Amino acid sequence: MKALESSLIRLRAELRARRARLGGSAHPARLLIRLDDLNAPGPDPGPGILPQAEVHRFIVAAVMWGGALPVRVVGRADNPRVADTVRFAWRLECPVRLRTNARGLADRAELLVDSGLRELRVAVAGPRQEAACGDTEAEVHQALAALRRAKEERRAQYPTVIAEVPISPETADVVPAVLRTMRDAGADAVELTPPFRGPAVEESQWVLLDVAAVDRPPFHRTPEAVLASLREPASGDAPGNPRRRGRDGASCPLGTLQIELTAQGALRSCPFHADMTPWNGDISADWARLAAHRGHIRSCERRCLHPDLTPW
Ligand code: SF4
Repeated sequence: MKALESSLIRLRAELRARRARLGGSAHPARLLIRLDDLNAPGPDPGPGILPQAEVHRFIVAAVMWGGALPVRVVGRADNPRVADTVRFAWRLECPVRLRTNARGLADRAELLVDSGLRELRVAVAGPRQEAACGDTEAEVHQALAALRRAKEERRAQYPTVIAEVPISPETADVVPAVLRTMRDAGADAVELTPPFRGPAVEESQWVLLDVAAVDRPPFHRTPEAVLASLREPASGDAPGNPRRRGRDGASCPLGTLQIELTAQGALRSCPFHADMTPWNGDISADWARLAAHRGHIRSCERRCLHPDLTPW
């Protein structure tokens, strides 16, 4: 019965996401809750100040407004509010995905596996993230091993553990080895993330594509399309490449798809556009106040590939 209910929640969430992408939804299809500055896109967000009780209130309000919906939590593993937020959303029957870093994750692996997470993404330190996360390779390995151990001890199917590996021109040659190491250390899948475009990925490195997770755009496409994508310039600090005609020419769907509560208590869908609004406690009124923000997003002429800004 519980499994059936979970399937229904996931099905409803998927339908809502599709409606939102087509612009026909009155509610956002998912929540993003940012608890600190971990790998945040856009301008420096500053220190988090929102009381945890407000995070709870926001989740409850969203569920009462639109029903259980997917929740994405972003925060550092050593932030005690991370596990609390995950557990709170799960108890309201929301499927929860967490993006976090490796430092401190090994110590919380059991707690997080017991928190009802569906998916846990570990941002592996790359050239940019080293400054932001400070994680060492050993910390990543310890974290992945601890998660695998905790899942095995509980015979738990979830969370699916995904290592997010940044790729850039400077690191393209070592990335295939990193991907294999992450798999061996305990990741269920590996994904390439920004800062990435522009590496000179040669056909001889197609092995890289065999070990990367291939079920999400752009990695679900043909090897040729993936290689073409990898050669494009991109940035995690600013809006990405110009939107092109064809499939990429459609408006960015993020405005109707996702509402984000920042660690500073602002509501928005995209960090690069104006007319955000403070969280005032009435989610339907706040959503209405974001109409101008959604208008900027609809007319945005860029496209983004930061993990928190992609439509998938
Ligand atoms: S493409 Fe979407 S996420 Fe990126 S800057 Fe434009 S509106 Fe924001």
